[in-house]
Amino acid sequence: MPIGNGCDNFCSYCVVPYARGREVYRPAGEILDEVKDLVKQGYREIILIAQNVNSYKSEEPPLNFPLCKGENVSLLTKEGRFNFADLLNMVNQIPGDFWIRFFTSHPKDMSDQLIKVLAKCEKVCHQIHLPAQVGDDGVLKRMNRGYTVSDYVKLIKKIKNILNDQIPMANDQTNFKLQIPNSKQFSNFRLIPPEAKSTSLLRQAVWQLPVSITTDIIVGFPGETKKQFDRTAELMRRVKFDMAYIAKYSPRPGTSAFKLADNVSRKEKVKRAKQLDRILRQTALVNNKKYLGKTVEVLVESKTKAGEWFGKTATGKDIRFSADSEALKAGDFIKVKVTRAKEFCLSGAAAKKYKGVRFGN
Ligand code: SF4
Repeated sequence: MPIGNGCDNFCSYCVVPYARGREVYRPAGEILDEVKDLVKQGYREIILIAQNVNSYKSEEPPLNFPLCKGENVSLLTKEGRFNFADLLNMVNQIPGDFWIRFFTSHPKDMSDQLIKVLAKCEKVCHQIHLPAQVGDDGVLKRMNRGYTVSDYVKLIKKIKNILNDQIPMANDQTNFKLQIPNSKQFSNFRLIPPEAKSTSLLRQAVWQLPVSITTDIIVGFPGETKKQFDRTAELMRRVKFDMAYIAKYSPRPGTSAFKLADNVSRKEKVKRAKQLDRILRQTALVNNKKYLGKTVEVLVESKTKAGEWFGKTATGKDIRFSADSEALKAGDFIKVKVTRAKEFCLSGAAAKKYKGVRFGN
């Protein structure tokens, strides 16, 4: 569901601000009405999209906004606007069983308020696409990205901390009563938010999956040296992305980088992209192996020709699974026990159909 269009950022390699113009966003009330309507029609996954989704702002807060103030709602931004965290918070409050995803976020606009809203809102999937582009400050500056490598790494740490990435998942999440850790175990979970004292919050924490972080990377930006590229490889090893879309730089007429000499050879770009792809495969596999033996919630998408089912986890992982149920259909939520993990796909067997979103039972 598009919630806006255009971009104000003018990254030096990108044609979007020229092709689509400056950022324009839809009023919040209109978006909320459309989501309500889609949910009524039976849609199970709402994906909010914009070039720079987390810089969303609405000049007109929805009419019932004051009724929906929560602990992590900003009321309005300093400029008197309703922001993306506020919007997510309100979309999350729309009744119904559905998941919410959003793309694409800009690292410089990933506010603490937004991260806290992600942690709090049970329908918002813990999958964050956060383009890093490169891992070298000099190249980032020439790309006009508006952050440093250290800013990016700190942001990822903060996201992982707030979203409880390091909480171990219990072996069989279908029987959650047995899995609430005792207080001693909890004291070792340094990432548990201090407010997670009530039983329901403890349950939520046990049920959470590790947040999935995906990214975009560009190799061979004009003037990128081997050393600078090595820093991008290092960043990928440090962050351990679940997925990365790795592009080989190509000049776009009209952009400021178009005037720079495209001086990294095609052969070298291919070599660098392959190197990053190898790192990605290693980190994605390590991340996916964390799912082995766990039971995860899956939104069913289709049946494959081989008779298996295909769906997605709340963290955006593709998953194939076997299921006996004749009644299963696209749009159902189901619990699946993961028995195999590859770099970019999980597989398993259906455990049980269930009603609700990630933390339902
Ligand atoms: S790369 Fe993204 S943030 Fe940068 S100008 Fe293009 S659309 Fe905007």
